[in-house]
Amino acid sequence: MFNSGAKIRFIRMPEDKSHEGYKASCDTSKEDIRIWICPKNISAKIDRDICLAHEVTHGWLGRVEKYVRPVKTEDQEKDEQAGMIHNMVEDLVVYNRVKQEGFPIISPLDLKDIGGQAYEIEQNGQIKYLNMLPNGKSQSIIRVATYICCEYALKTIGITEDAKQVFERYFEAYKGRYLAEDGVDIV
Ligand SMILES: [Zn+2]
Repeated sequence: MFNSGAKIRFIRMPEDKSHEGYKASCDTSKEDIRIWICPKNISAKIDRDICLAHEVTHGWLGRVEKYVRPVKTEDQEKDEQAGMIHNMVEDLVVYNRVKQEGFPIISPLDLKDIGGQAYEIEQNGQIKYLNMLPNGKSQSIIRVATYICCEYALKTIGITEDAKQVFERYFEAYKGRYLAEDGVDIV
């Protein structure tokens, strides 16, 4: 990869593992950077290019720039939590790098995911997928981390109007339901 000596391998994700909507992921645990792709979930060429640039940049940060990765512990919930926060924060860096290379401005965080969370708070008063973290404190940490990442993206990184609207909706839903519970002070 460039002059770093790192090699990239592109691998097609097996059908049974390509759940709905999943596009690509990066694995830097091996010698080479492995990018798993689900072509059936990638519709347009520009979508594919952005997606691959995104994953390769994750690989670059981990393998070449030695960005820190969460270390596995005995505590599965803690690992889950660390992985989620790590992904969100690294996505902000990845988005910035990819944008600097001339890729279109979109959003550093998955809009379907953030919009979905806002919808769930509005409709059900809870974010269902966080139930995989049985500890309330862990859920709270992820919600606050999501809030901070959205706010950082909104204030410091170029994003589309659509993305702004989704983040604003998340803020409103979050403030109404969780702000006091999570003990967040907004300045
Ligand atoms: Zn990512």
